[in-house]
Amino acid sequence: MSKVRLYVDHPLGAGQTIPLDRDQAHYLFGVMRLGAGAVLSVFNGHDGEWDAEVTEAAKRRGTLTSLVQTRPLQAPPDLWLLFAPVKKARTDFIVEKATEMGARRICPVLTDHTNSERVRVDRLQAHAVEAAEQSGGTYVPEVADPVKLDRLLADWDGARALMVCDEARIGAVDGLPAALRAPAAVLIGPEGGLSPGERARLQAMDCATAVSLGPRILRADTAAVAALTLWQNAHGDW
Ligand code: SAH
Repeated sequence: MSKVRLYVDHPLGAGQTIPLDRDQAHYLFGVMRLGAGAVLSVFNGHDGEWDAEVTEAAKRRGTLTSLVQTRPLQAPPDLWLLFAPVKKARTDFIVEKATEMGARRICPVLTDHTNSERVRVDRLQAHAVEAAEQSGGTYVPEVADPVKLDRLLADWDGARALMVCDEARIGAVDGLPAALRAPAAVLIGPEGGLSPGERARLQAMDCATAVSLGPRILRADTAAVAALTLWQNAHGDW
């Protein structure tokens, strides 16, 4: 059986004591049935992956002691995902998949046609942590606070290529290579698509390239996975 993996918000180093919170103790001792002396894998998003031993196991608390580093930190390439939040389950899916696909940062953006403006960043961040735990990652992408697309574009660093996924580009085959370089960000619009004003604004940016993701209109969650795959395939850490 593969080792249990746990994200801890605590520095990791040889002999480091890591206190567990209630949920972590419940998960390790109640759900996974680990006891004192058991060894699991822990990571914190900065210090790589470590073997850690359970040194205290109680119902609502516990302590781990980190032993040896088993893997260094493997940060994904400098790729951000910008997406317009959709319904809750699909938004959760997007965050989970972006973490698995190796996005470094996940930014909900509010666009003219954004379907859902209520975003619980703490919940989404917890989904990113869970996805990193189960996918063997040592890095957890930051889920940023939602920001209006026009504000984000006003402060945009032109060194970061913007791969704008736009169904209006269906049929066009140019554009993809120029958009695919690092650092980069992928932009996925809402179910209602980008507005004419947003398209014009993006078109005027040198670092932005509108690309097609094939001849069919994809749901936003599918589009996010497809776009990250394309970029990773060309410039990623695969
Ligand atoms: N309302 C639009 C579809 C939006 S799909 C329509 O019906 O025409 C949601 C988002 O997914 C889009 O904003 C775009 O970013 C992305 N997307 C979906 N299919 C795409 C495709 N074939 N090419 C590029 N982007 C696509």
